[in-house]
Amino acid sequence: MEKRYNAFTGYFREKYGCRLQKIVIDAGFTCPNRDGKVGVGGCTYCNNAAFHPNYSTPDKSIFQQLEEGIEFHRGRYRNTTDYLAYFQSYSNTYAPLDNLKMLYEEALEHPKVRGIVIGTRPDCVDGTLLDYLASLAREKVVIVEYGIESCYDRTLSRINRGHNFDVARRAVEETAARGLFQGAHFIFGLPGESVEDMMGMAPIINSLPLNTLKFHQLQIIKGTAMEMEYANRREDFVEFSLDGYIDFFIDFLELLRPDLYIERFAGEVPPRFVNHTPWGLIRNTELLRLLEKRLVERDTFQGKLYK
Ligand code: SF4
Repeated sequence: MEKRYNAFTGYFREKYGCRLQKIVIDAGFTCPNRDGKVGVGGCTYCNNAAFHPNYSTPDKSIFQQLEEGIEFHRGRYRNTTDYLAYFQSYSNTYAPLDNLKMLYEEALEHPKVRGIVIGTRPDCVDGTLLDYLASLAREKVVIVEYGIESCYDRTLSRINRGHNFDVARRAVEETAARGLFQGAHFIFGLPGESVEDMMGMAPIINSLPLNTLKFHQLQIIKGTAMEMEYANRREDFVEFSLDGYIDFFIDFLELLRPDLYIERFAGEVPPRFVNHTPWGLIRNTELLRLLEKRLVERDTFQGKLYK
C-alpha cells in the first residue's frame, strides 16, 4: 500500500489497465421509501437533486446521458477512454427485472462503456436480480453500491430509512455469495449517534463482506425533514470541525480492515443545496490532501489497530 490507506483511486488501472470514469445516469427510477411501498417522504436527509450533475436527467435517453457525460469529463481527464455508467439517482434496482435488463444493457451497448455501477437500497435486491448481475459480471465490470448509512437500527428508524441493519447485512452477504464486487455508503454525524457510536461501526463494517466504502459527514440539505430536526434538536447532532473530522476519521481508519478500499471519506454537496457550510468551501482534492498530511503527522495507517 503506497498510501497510508487503501485508496480506491488507482484500483481500475491496476485491475483493468486503464482509468474508468463514472458517468452519472438518471434512469428515472423512484424509491420505495418515497412512493409508499416502504414509506413516504423518504430518508430525512435526502434530496436527490443535490447529487445530480446537470447532464443526467431522466428526460434524456441513457445513450444521450452517456454521450453528454463523456463530453463533460473529456476536458478534465484527457487520457480517459473508458467509462462506467453509474446508475446513481434514487434506487436503481427498483423496477421489474425485464425493465432493469433493458436499462443496464442499453448502457452496456455504448462502445465506450466497460461496465455499470448500480446504487440502490439493500431492500431492493433479490436472488434473481443478483444472479442476473453475476452473469453480466462475467463479461463486464459490475459494481453494486448499497446505501447503508448506519449500523444501528435506532438510527435507521430515526432517519426513516425504512429498513433495519439486518436487511443490509443480508443483501451484502447475498451479493458477496455471487462473487459481485460491492461497496457501501455510510454517514457520520446522524442524529442520536455519539462519536463512540460511530467508532463502534468499524468492527461491524469489518464483519461485512464488502470491497469498497464511501463515507460522508452529515450535511444538512435545504428543504429536508432533517433541516427541521437540526433546527429543533441541535444537541442530538455531533458536529465536526474540519480538523476534528479528519482526526476522527483517522481513528476510525485505524480500526478498519486493511483490504477495504476507501472510495470517499468526506464530501461536499454544492453550497446552494446546504443550509450551512461549516467547513467553508473546500474541494474534495483538498480534503484528501489534508487527510494524507495528517496521516503522516500521526504516523499511522488504515488497519493499524485492526484485530
Ligand atoms: S433510499 Fe435513497 S433515494 Fe430513497 S429516500 Fe432514502 S436516500 Fe432518498
